Amino acid sequence: MFHLLDDMYRIKVWKSLCSGNFKAMSKLSPLNWPVVRQVKRGDLFGRDKSTQSAKSENLHGRTVEADKVVQSVCPYCAVGCSQRVYVKDDRVVHIEGDSDSPISRGRLCPKGAASEQLVNSATRLTKVKYRAPHATEWQDLDLETAMDMIADRFIASRRNQWEDFDEKGRVLNRTMGVAGLGGATLDNEENYIIKKLFTAAGAVQVENQARI
Ligand code: SF4
Repeated sequence: MFHLLDDMYRIKVWKSLCSGNFKAMSKLSPLNWPVVRQVKRGDLFGRDKSTQSAKSENLHGRTVEADKVVQSVCPYCAVGCSQRVYVKDDRVVHIEGDSDSPISRGRLCPKGAASEQLVNSATRLTKVKYRAPHATEWQDLDLETAMDMIADRFIASRRNQWEDFDEKGRVLNRTMGVAGLGGATLDNEENYIIKKLFTAAGAVQVENQARI
């Protein structure tokens, strides 16, 4: 261990000499050698602060700077692992597993652990995009307009494709003009509501991509 630390020290001195950084060299006085610090502190295996650099001493996690922590659910799949979302100045700065969760007990898979990148990605779309029939360009829509357009199409398709009876006269009371296909980001509760809505509307084609 001492040999390793001495080697690291020699590399630092050599780098400082090559770059002419004599100020940095002055900090590398023999009294400041890691091995000397280890001996002085009785830290035989170099496991305490004797091996810590001034730079790493001042490092701290992003969670320390957060104004508040909000409990949430991972948006990526139907497992529904719990998350702690750290917020600073109304901006998400870090997301980690919530150890209080009986479902995931603090764990997140790599996808869930990287979900801060989903929130803060520079390529994230934050406006509804609409391309009209035959148009070549996308246009931005406000959410309320987009929701009204979806509702109008839903009602029209349901009405236009409504079937009272089949060819043998048996009662159907269904529409084949509307179908539901959920994604993995939907949780149990959302799927429950979607299934209720589509079934009440007479749709018989209701599916979800997730299989848990
Ligand atoms: S994507 Fe990973 S972390 Fe997120 S809910 Fe699914 S299993 Fe959990």
